[in-house]
Order: sequence, then C-alpha cells, then structure tokens
Amino acid sequence: MRVYPQAVIDHSALRHNLGLVRRHTPDSRVWAVVKADAYGHGMVPVATSLAAADGLAVARVEEGVRLREAEIARPILVLEGALFADELAAARGHGLALAVHQPDQVALLAQTPPARPLRVWIKVDTGMHRLGFDPREVPDLLARLDADPGVEKPVGLMTHLANADDVHDPLTPRQCDRLRALDPAARYELSIGNSAGILAFPASRTHWVRPGIMLYGASPLGRRTAAELKLRPVMRLATRLIAVRSLRRGDRVGYGGAYVCPEDMPVGVAAIGYGDGYPRHAPTGTPVLVGGRRASLVGRVSMDMISLDLRGLPESAVGDSVILWGEGLPVDEVAEWAGTIPYELLCQVTPRVRREHRNP
Ligand SMILES: *Cc1c(COP(=O)(O)O)cnc(C)c1O
Repeated sequence: MRVYPQAVIDHSALRHNLGLVRRHTPDSRVWAVVKADAYGHGMVPVATSLAAADGLAVARVEEGVRLREAEIARPILVLEGALFADELAAARGHGLALAVHQPDQVALLAQTPPARPLRVWIKVDTGMHRLGFDPREVPDLLARLDADPGVEKPVGLMTHLANADDVHDPLTPRQCDRLRALDPAARYELSIGNSAGILAFPASRTHWVRPGIMLYGASPLGRRTAAELKLRPVMRLATRLIAVRSLRRGDRVGYGGAYVCPEDMPVGVAAIGYGDGYPRHAPTGTPVLVGGRRASLVGRVSMDMISLDLRGLPESAVGDSVILWGEGLPVDEVAEWAGTIPYELLCQVTPRVRREHRNP
C-alpha cells in the first residue's frame, strides 16, 4: 500500500553535510547533534549513518541511553547534563559525557561514588544567559573537578552562542574570547561552534564543534541560503493530491472561509496538515511543489489537509505528488512564510508521518 505523507530521509545528503562541516573545521572533532529525534529525522538511523562523526550530542540523558541501547558506542555528550541521581547513574552506566551548568549538578557528582570515571564538560555562560556558570566561577570549579578522581581528564569547557546567525553581532567573538580566556595554558578541551559558528566565526572552531541544523541541510545563517552554503536538504516531506476541485469566483475555501476565490479556478487538496506537523500558521501564498512545479497554499491549514491554488498547474490530477519541503523547495523558505525557523518545522513533523530512509 502506498503510504503518504512521508518524510524521506536522504542519508547521502546527511553525510555530504557532515563532509562540509569537516571542510570548514578540519582540525576539530565533531559532535553531531542528534537531539530531538535528530531534528525530526530519526535519531538512531541518523546516528548510525553519521559513523564518521567523532561523537554525538543529545539534550537529555534518556536520549543518550536510547543511543547506547541501539549499540552506538561512540562518545555521547548530554548537553543539559544530569540533575537527579538516577540520571547520573544511567549516564555512568552507559558511559555518557555530561555537561554541568549549575551547582546542584556538581554537588550530585561529588555525592556519588566514582565507580567509573565520567567525562564532564563545564558549560560556561559567556553571554547567552540561558545555562551555564559565570566565567568567574570557573577557575574554582576546574580546580575541584581536576582533583576529583571520578572525573575523567581533561575536563571540557563549552559555551553556546546566542546569536551566531547574525554574522555582524559582536557578541559572538566576545563569547569565543571569554571561553578561550579561561584556558590560557591550553590544559583543557574547548567546544564552542554550533552550525552558524562553524560557518561564520573561525574563533568558534575549537577542539570540538557541535553542528546540528547544517547536518540536516537547512541554513543556520539568516542571510545565506542552504544552497549558497552548499548544504543538501536531508528531509523531503511529501504527500499526494487527494482531490482537485473546480471552484467558482467568490467561493470561500476551508475553515473560516479564509480564502475567497478571485476567479473560477482549480483548487487541489493535499493530504497533510498540522496533525502531521505542517505549520498551521503557514499563510495563503506559502509555496509547495505539485508534480515538481511551484504552486501555493490557500486558506487555513487543517489537521489533515491543505488546499492549493492550482491555477498555474491546471493539468494537475488526483494522486500527484506534493512536496512541502525538500530538494527544490528549501525548508528555510517555508519557515520564513510560516513565521518560524527551519529547526521548528523539522522537529515538529509528527510520528504519524512515516520516515522512509534512503541510502542509509
Ligand atoms: C542544539 C545545540 C547545538 C546545535 O545547534 P545548531 O544551531 O543546530 O547547529 C549546539 N550546541 C548546543 C548546546 C545545542 O543545544
């Protein structure tokens, strides 16, 4: 039986994008960020086909445990670290590296017996003011962790960039300087660059970098398209036309009658909606590809369906392929229309949409 909608995941594009990370930062080791089900692409299949990445980064301990249960043996960094004793025990048991970003986590480390040394990364707040220790607290903390036999050496120092997608924001070089200044004798390992940092800020290309969105082929830089950056889209979100209607001038389409036909026109209905993760805020005009050619959405997005203006494609027929994003229609462009970012669109594709893995 034919299944639609589908998210077709192209693993050769994924590996191409990892190769691009390597070209930008040849001296760094790479944590491929696979949190949030690999930005909606499927965490275990993505982690498996990114075997060339030196390590994997996830947000939560539970995600790291799932990777280990899938027999993935590479280093795994948990970006939010562990807060509770059972999480710490699981992290130790599975050999996960942990970020520590606040004092309770350090206290927890000290409380539990060092059965097996743990890799620890101090998360430093260099200006994002979300997570992390103030740089002034770091020297003492380093001294404590250096003396703790339960902590593997060297300790890592990491920070996250708040605004690296704006290549002109002076905050980013300042954040890089603040982290680097904590290790004048080069005794520790540093990690700064996310995708935007890797592409736009050489100072963020540290021992380890942490690319996420660029691996999936979306642009992390507001002003530059994925194609300009030579990234290849990994996900193609596709469905089918399930109806083609001939509507009359003045007919109102969909919930709220939000679109009024300006003339007699063909309107297609495609089987995808916000119940599949297609953004409900996508407005009239949002592009789609029907049979490989551009058309656009009209009216409100429903749970299971969207309506399409087919005036430019009058030969369209029931069963035709409809692509919501992918090759030929960047997810970045759809995100812009929907008033959001590609990260959100990719992450929010629901489990109802079958993932189809190509070239794994
Ligand atoms: C999600 C995340 C990343 C990856 O960011 P991208 O913008 O997707 O490259 C890197 N580091 C941390 C701490 C993150 O939370």
